[in-house]
Amino acid sequence: MKLVRFGGGRIGVLEDRLIHDATISIGLEPEAWPPVGMVQLIKDFNAVRPKLEGLTKSLGVPLEQTTLETPILWPNKVIAYPVNYVEHGQERNVTLRADRDGFFLKASSSLSGPQDPIMLPDLPGREIHHECELAIVIGRTARHVSTAEALDFVFGYSCLIDVTVRGKEDRVMRKSYDSFCPIGPALVTADEVGDPSALDLKLWVNDELRQHGNTRDLILDVANMISMASSVATLYPGDIIASGTPAGVGPIRSGDRITIEIERVGRMTLSVEQGVGGDNLAIRKDATR
Ligand code: MN
Repeated sequence: MKLVRFGGGRIGVLEDRLIHDATISIGLEPEAWPPVGMVQLIKDFNAVRPKLEGLTKSLGVPLEQTTLETPILWPNKVIAYPVNYVEHGQERNVTLRADRDGFFLKASSSLSGPQDPIMLPDLPGREIHHECELAIVIGRTARHVSTAEALDFVFGYSCLIDVTVRGKEDRVMRKSYDSFCPIGPALVTADEVGDPSALDLKLWVNDELRQHGNTRDLILDVANMISMASSVATLYPGDIIASGTPAGVGPIRSGDRITIEIERVGRMTLSVEQGVGGDNLAIRKDATR
């Protein structure tokens, strides 16, 4: 099943380019704050699933007639693994590795949707890179989970771009600008994706293929990422894990169009726009480092 958020916080099931609106049948208030409707739906999914499946027999809204929003807006956390493909470590010339250095966090407020632009902070001279990543979405509370049972805790998958300002400042700050974590276009349930250990990932900048990897080359695979994360922090339904990028990262610029595609997970194209602000005492607008 493909779940989407659309049209101002509504939730629906996407099938054959039609969105079947589940908002009323699941008792969702699109205006509610904090906007945790999808997180609640993930938590209650087994109970709600028959209702959602019934909806697909109803009339749907054509995808073109509405706007898709980030499938999950308010997770408890976004965990991200650093160098998790050997060739990406080589291109960055770093010894950092997911299996030796563990994970970091991205601000949840950096999440954005498949039709939101990536807004570049105003940092002249600084490179801002695309990183093409598989997003793992947790389905139920996980704590001290072994690799053998880890996949049972996955709700689904999505495409994720881990946008990054290159530099020496703390990684969490450089990766946490608003709109630096687009996910989408849908949240695809694990049963529909199947085995996550051999998924092709691709990313284009303006129709030029820049990244082409496969999850079979992950240093820490999906089960190991969940196991490691859950050994430290309780994982909650809706939590997102960014799984690291294959080689081929590079700068994005205002006016670019970035397309990410992951086998059986989806494809989305985002625009890149120049924003304002974003410099501070640590990241200086007038300095390169
Ligand atoms: Mn990354």
